[in-house]
Order: sequence, then structure tokens, then C-alpha cells
Amino acid sequence: MKNTYSRYLIAAFILVLLVLPQLAITPEYWITQLNYIGLATLVVVGLVLLTGVGGLTSFGQAAFVGIGAYTTAYFTTQMGLSPWLTLFMGLVLTGIVAYILGAVSLHLSGHYLPLGTIAWGLSLYYLFGNLEVLGKYDGIAGIQSLEVFGISLVSGRNIYYLIWLFVMLSIWATSNLLSSRPGRAIRSLRDGGAMAESFGVNTAAYKIVIFMYAALLASVSGWLYAHMQRAVSPSPFGLNYGIEYLFMAVVGGAASVWGALVGSAVVLIIKDQLQNWLPWLIDSTDNFELIVFGIILVLVLQHARDGIWPYLAAPFQRRQQVRSVKLPPPPEAPALPQRERPQPGEIVLDVAQIRKEFGGLVAVNDVSFQVKAGEIVGLIGPNGAGKSTTFNLITGVLPATAGRVEFCGKRIDAKRARDIARLGVGRTFQHVQLLPTMSVLENVALGAHLRSDVSVLAGTLHIDRSREAQLLHEAAQQLRRVGLGDYLYEQAGNLALGQQRIVEIARALAADPVLLLLDEPAAGLRFREKQALAQVLKQLREEGMSILLVEHDMEFVMDLTNHLVVLDFGTKLAEGKPEEVQTNPAVLEAYLGGVEEEEPANV
Ligand code: ADP
Ligand code: MG
Repeated sequence: MKNTYSRYLIAAFILVLLVLPQLAITPEYWITQLNYIGLATLVVVGLVLLTGVGGLTSFGQAAFVGIGAYTTAYFTTQMGLSPWLTLFMGLVLTGIVAYILGAVSLHLSGHYLPLGTIAWGLSLYYLFGNLEVLGKYDGIAGIQSLEVFGISLVSGRNIYYLIWLFVMLSIWATSNLLSSRPGRAIRSLRDGGAMAESFGVNTAAYKIVIFMYAALLASVSGWLYAHMQRAVSPSPFGLNYGIEYLFMAVVGGAASVWGALVGSAVVLIIKDQLQNWLPWLIDSTDNFELIVFGIILVLVLQHARDGIWPYLAAPFQRRQQVRSVKLPPPPEAPALPQRERPQPGEIVLDVAQIRKEFGGLVAVNDVSFQVKAGEIVGLIGPNGAGKSTTFNLITGVLPATAGRVEFCGKRIDAKRARDIARLGVGRTFQHVQLLPTMSVLENVALGAHLRSDVSVLAGTLHIDRSREAQLLHEAAQQLRRVGLGDYLYEQAGNLALGQQRIVEIARALAADPVLLLLDEPAAGLRFREKQALAQVLKQLREEGMSILLVEHDMEFVMDLTNHLVVLDFGTKLAEGKPEEVQTNPAVLEAYLGGVEEEEPANV
């Protein structure tokens, strides 16, 4: 949510940027520094998206800078092509290389991805240094300077404007992207993506997209660099610089676009000062600044995990928070298209002999039951009975060992979570899976991911606004429906746990599901809130929604459900109308004799 303060600040900042090179008193040295800061910022904005937001660490960005720089160096000096054509060629080449590298390395988990980026970062560096056509370690000199509308950009004061134009565009585009439909999907990648997949997000595809996005920005930086220096050699594209870019992202504040600018400026200025002072202090010209950098990085990680930016932004954000919570709801927008619903009484979900084994443990033991349209079915049982696992089998989060699941007559037990979501299955999670730093409204809008088709390009260029308005309007309506209309702009993580569960229901509703699966929605709610929730669920049933409800609390489900299925140790113990099940001796035994206190750690 942008407010007027930050608008003024940005405007003032741009004004200073514009005027600075015009002042004769601005030292040449400052201009040079600012040019380097701008070039670095372009790369680091990409890293903010890739690493800070998307959670994918890359040490290899300098190599993409190299691809952009070498492409233009080679084709302008050897073939006399126009630099504007070679900019485009560099982007295409970088895009292809990034696509291939992304496809092979992005599925690496944990520490293997950063190691993978080190590997190909080094490979590309040695490639630059060993290719005869690229001048080996001497590189390519004699690159022409750029020219825009007949104005030569040979001087630092002139190319400055082009560099900072690209920087501002990259910040603008990346901020746009982050507050769009694809941006919400990208922001959900950090948490592993299982939740997002349940709302139809193709997480693997988004990872490749942000990887390519970051690589393309680095490539532009390389193109500018080549024409500013008018010579290229391999060393600025080596692993050292890849690490430095990542360092800038971390120091600035890896999750904020403006942090990229702050991080680049701080690191380059400190580096420059160290190069001045260190030889004087320790009488050596070796790369001691790297050691000092290492120490600073450790300190930053220990004391300011989110970098410098949050400290700079804090005074404004606090004011913004108070203001934005009072903002009016998003404006009315045309309703999103809705799915056709089955007739009341039709079988929506048919679970037949479903089974799940974890090693020797049979978590779900050949369980069968059905859910009909317009019905609330309760799936109850003591902790560890297999309720959540059954949910995960239905929603495609876990593969079943045996058995079948049909949804509206289609077999879904071999489908992926996101394809099942697309058919109209919405869910909540026993352990709340919201994005805590994102607003409640945006969390819910993520649920409507599949009801819109805004692309990364449209989001980046800000031409998605009417469709974005539809998504936000839908999200606001679902939040009002569940009684959270007053919390639209609150950060999701600030709500009480019980309220967060309700936000999850709104998010599932935003997907326009035919079947809603709720995993312990009443856990952590007070009596009043439970009653309100029951009211919402009854209302949904009247509108024709089918609901499968996992509950621990017998009382809550008794007057709410049409049908109950009781599980114990993975096996179906009883099934029927709530009042029949309630008096079933086997059920009483399981409930009174069972251990109900501890919560198993699972999805
Ligand atoms: P409920 O939701 O009814 O409390 P769960 O379905 O979460 O029960 O768990 C059923 C059983 O399966 C428990 O014994 C649990 O420890 C086990 N279990 C659940 N998920 C896993 C897993 N991913 N790996 C191994 N065991 C699991
Ligand atoms: Mg459970």
C-alpha cells in the first residue's frame, strides 16, 4: 500500500538524482561512484526478487552480468552491430542460458541450490577467460560509447542518466510485480510452496520466471557496464562479485526493492573507503577488504537479519500501518466468473478404500466415505487418527498407497495438488499457512489465483489493474462474509490464531470451490467465535457448498454436520447421523479411552 509520504520521498529522491550531475560542484568522483551503485542496484533488484522474496539463493549473478557485457562487446566491436540490437541479443542469450540453468538447478533443495549457482558461476567465468574470440583473460577493448538521440554518452555525467533510468524502471517494474497476482504467488515460494500449490500455483514455473527475471536485469547491467568502461575482461564477472551482489542484497534488506539501492550504495561506499584506509592502516595492498566484509556480514546477520532498509523505513511504515488499516475497502469491481455447482444431493466426493502407509505405520486404513452436494460431513477422531492424512490424500498433497478418490465423477487420486485445486477443491490447513507479513486481503487474494490469468509481464507493466481490482474485491467480499471485514489491511501474522484460521477459510472460499475441506477450523476459537463460525458454515451449506470438516471437538460438529465419519488409528470406526454416532459404544470407547492432549506435528 503506497501512501503519500513515500510518494513525496520518491519524488524528492528522483529530483536529487536528476539534478546532481548538472551541478558543476558535484565531483566527478561522485558521479563515477553513483554509476557503479546504479549498475549494482540493477543486479541486486533481481536478487531481491529471487533470494529475498523467492527464497532462492544465487551466487552466480555476476556471470549473467558477464553475458550481457560480452555479448555487446563482441558484436559491436567484431561485427559493428548497433548497441541497441546487442542489448536485445544479450537479453535473449541470457534468457536462454538462465532458462537452462534454472531448469537443471532450481529443483535442488536446501544448500544444493547455492552450491549449484557457485558451480555454474565459476564455469561461465572460466568460459569468458578461455574463449579465444572473447580475448581470453585480456578481454575486449575499444567498445564504442552509447548514443541516445544524437547525444553521446561517453562522459560519466551522461551515461549516468541512462543507468539511473534503468534502475528506476527496474524498481518500478519489480514493485508492480510484487503487488500483482503473479507477485503473490512468488511471495509464497519461500514457504516451500505446498500451500500455494493447493491454490493452483505452479511453483516450479514461477521459480524459473524469477530466476530469468533476475538474470535479465543482470544482463542489462552488463550491457551498460561494457559501454561505460568501453572494455571488458573476465574478472568483474567472477565469483567474488557474485558473492558481493548477494552481500548487497542482504545488507540492504533482502526482501525490499529499495533495500537493493541502499545495500548497493552502502557496500560500494564502504568498499571504496576500505580501499583508501586499509593500506594506510595495515600497510598492505592485498584484498583485506574481503575479510572486513566477512566480519560486517556476520554482524549484519546477527543483529539485523532483515538488513538496513527496515530501519530506514520503519518511521514511515508505522504511520502507514495506522493509516492503511483505516483505508476504505478496495473499490467495487465486476465479479469474477463462478463455477457451475452440482445439484443438491449429487455425490461430490467419493473416497473408496483409501490407504496410506508411512513405512510400517498404517495412517489411513482402507477408509471409504462420500460427501454429497450441499452437505457438511464431519471427519472426527482422536489425535493421530488419520484425519489430516486423509485430507492430504484427497487434496493431492500426499500420494495414496492404495484406493481411489473421485471428485464430481472424475478420478483425482493420481493428480497433483494444483490440478485438484483447479477442479474446485479448496482447503485450509491444520497448521495455519498464511504469509505472515502480507496483508490479510492479499493472503485471501492468493486463493483466487486460478480465477484470473494476469501474467508476469502484465503485472510488471502495471496493465493488470482492472483484473487486480477484481481479485481484491473478491478477496474483500470473502473476508466480509466470514466476519473479518475490519482487518483487510492488517498483516496476517498480527491476527490471533483463531482469526488466522478464519482467514484461511476466506482464502479457500476465494477459489470458488465446490468442495471445501476444513482441517480443525474451530481450534483456538473462543465459544462465541465458534458459534459465529458455525453460522458461516451453515450459510455456506445453504448456498450449496459441500464441506468436509475435520474436527476434534465433538460438541462443535454435533449440530452442524449432516453426516459423521469417525476414524481411530486410521480405521473407520463408525459412520452415520451425528446422533447415532454419538451413542455408538465403539466411538465412546475411542473418545473416552483415547489420548487427546498432545498435538502431532504435521500438515
Ligand atoms: P490426525 O489429523 O487425525 O490427528 P494425522 O493424519 O495427522 O492424524 O496422523 C495420522 C498418523 O500418521 C499419526 O500417527 C502421525 O504421526 C502419522 N503421520 C502423519 N503424517 C506423517 C508423515 N508425513 N510421516 C510419517 N508419519 C506421519
Ligand atoms: Mg490433524
